[in-house]
Amino acid sequence: MTSPTTETMTDRGEILEKSCNENKGSFLVLSGPSGSGKNTLIDFIRETDPTLRHSVSATTRPMRGSEQEGVAYYFKTREEFEKLVEEGEFIEYDCFNNNYYGTLKKEIEKLLGESANVALDLTVPGAVNIKKAFGDRVKTVFILPMSFKTLKERLDKRKTESAEKIRERIKAAAENEIGVYGCFDYIIFNDKLEDSKRAIISIYRSFRDGGEADIKEAEKYKQKNQCVRCEELVRSLKKEAEEMLAEEK
Ligand code: 5GP
Repeated sequence: MTSPTTETMTDRGEILEKSCNENKGSFLVLSGPSGSGKNTLIDFIRETDPTLRHSVSATTRPMRGSEQEGVAYYFKTREEFEKLVEEGEFIEYDCFNNNYYGTLKKEIEKLLGESANVALDLTVPGAVNIKKAFGDRVKTVFILPMSFKTLKERLDKRKTESAEKIRERIKAAAENEIGVYGCFDYIIFNDKLEDSKRAIISIYRSFRDGGEADIKEAEKYKQKNQCVRCEELVRSLKKEAEEMLAEEK
């Protein structure tokens, strides 16, 4: 089984959209390379707004360290995951570093049934597919690290993956992830955590219940206002990754 196409995923999303039309919840989707700080930012907004719920995905990747079933992920075997795909149980799924990750319809229906706003942490194709399915109810945010060196340090500190796996993640980020910022509504450069927290909270509030100040602050992070800086950063990140991966060979 390979990565899904956008078309097949869109069909599934549309079916779910119909059954969820009466619900008011919105979706905040964060994407970016592993170690870019997506989960830290989601946890931060959830502290300020407990009505925001983090959707738990299904995955075939092995459980890490202190992760718990049903909290970090619903852990599945490859066979179980593929059966769920065949049964149409996913809104979207993707293959990342040889493992599957997917957003379950049931999970989203449960959260929207509680009228919750939902935060998702997805690969780039996952973010694009959720946006296609739910349109303006979805705000997508791309989190960019300022350097691969800091990203690698964060991944090393987690002590959850081998040096080889970390290398694969950096390679995937450099080759497939960081160049596609143009598909996102907002971009955050995760340099200083405090600044990134301010950015994400203003983005979230700007489409929830924020006032003028939040809307004005969020405007700064809109993709169209960040793309020149982004282009430069992506160029230097790609160069840095190339050098780093060549050195480690
Ligand atoms: P990790 O193995 O570090 O937990 O996650 C690897 C990647 O999978 C991250 O980029 C994360 O955003 C993404 N991911 C987690 N859950 C899902 C999901 O349900 N769908 C998609 N498309 N990506 C996911």
